[in-house]
Amino acid sequence: MNRGRIVADDNRDRRIFIKHKMCRFCADPSLRIDYKEPSMLAGFTSERGKMIPRRISGNCAKHQRVLATAIKRARNIALLPFTTAKIKTKERREF
Ligand SMILES: [Zn+2]
Repeated sequence: MNRGRIVADDNRDRRIFIKHKMCRFCADPSLRIDYKEPSMLAGFTSERGKMIPRRISGNCAKHQRVLATAIKRARNIALLPFTTAKIKTKERREF
């Protein structure tokens, strides 16, 4: 499995190796995605309560789907916020 790629190779032995983010749930099968565990799910949401996209979190498509469902379920039973009110007031001051 290729876990990285060489970005720059300019014949000066300067090679920048970017490591691919591994899906946390694939790497550790003991990790479970549970909508009843808001502390774990909160790590995959932004400060505003938005879900972190796959390209940032490094999750695979399969686990991102499961995670998205779990976050939505947790929001629906008020374990996670849909949005944060405090940040909204800050934005209003800017205008
Ligand atoms: Zn995965």
